[in-house]
Amino acid sequence: MKTSAASAVAASAQTTSAAEAPAGVEADSVRAAEWPASRPLKKKVLWNELSRSEFPPLLENDPVVILPIGSLEQHGPHCPVEMDISIPYHIAVATAEDIDDFPVVVGPPVWTGFTHYNMGGYGTITVRLETFIDVVSDVCRSIKANGFERIVLMNGHGGNVAPVTAIANKLAHENIITLSFPYWSLFQQEMRDWSTADMRGPGHAGEWETAFQMYLRPHLVLTDRREAGKARWPYSPAVRRYAHVPERRRESANGSMGDPFAATPEKGERIFKLAVERLTAMVREFHATPVLQYEEFGSDAKVLPTLF
Ligand SMILES: [Zn+2]
Repeated sequence: MKTSAASAVAASAQTTSAAEAPAGVEADSVRAAEWPASRPLKKKVLWNELSRSEFPPLLENDPVVILPIGSLEQHGPHCPVEMDISIPYHIAVATAEDIDDFPVVVGPPVWTGFTHYNMGGYGTITVRLETFIDVVSDVCRSIKANGFERIVLMNGHGGNVAPVTAIANKLAHENIITLSFPYWSLFQQEMRDWSTADMRGPGHAGEWETAFQMYLRPHLVLTDRREAGKARWPYSPAVRRYAHVPERRRESANGSMGDPFAATPEKGERIFKLAVERLTAMVREFHATPVLQYEEFGSDAKVLPTLF
């Protein structure tokens, strides 16, 4: 039964021909570019596209659900506001499409994030911290209630990092054990090694985010409006080395942090494919590992179970 569950998903696969690609754009990048998928993918991997009757067979073979979590927020003068949900979504879809021997489902993307500090730039939509925690937690509870026990939380927005970690710790207490990370942690070292401008991280509409977008959704990058931007961090590097300083209303005049002129589609493709490779390995191990249980150790004293 185990392999038949996987092949049931594969059987519903629909192939896409290069003929569907717009002139000058390779079919592969078009496949990765659809957001949300407006045409059939290589196979059915999106939670949102499955019918009620297609879920039970998936549960027979230790499926993994990848939940992309992001934000809609200004990304400088040249990048679309979808950036932070678009990147994890496309990494998740490409990973799910490439794994054929067990079911990998891309959960309903959580497109809104905790990003009040970007509200000064047009296009930003934020939710309150409590709302964000409740939404992501309830989506995970629902996924678990459907019988899926392996959930990957892949986040694409810096402001969500601490909340997602807190959510993961909170859910563990309910026996929902997730793997959670921001997508850029998949290639932290290579991002530094391969950078020609923004050595430190993904930035904001700078070298790496713009490169991703130039590869995934090139028609949405306003290349003639590109502007580099610098973060205006308060306090000395010595203080910031030890203390977290919450960001105020986006501390960059034009909303960019980093150098988008260093971005190329080739850089975007290279880092995207590495991210898919690393996530694929992680998902494979998650699938093969027995589901962890919260009360595995030191659980003999049954005191105050409802409170703690
Ligand atoms: Zn971003």
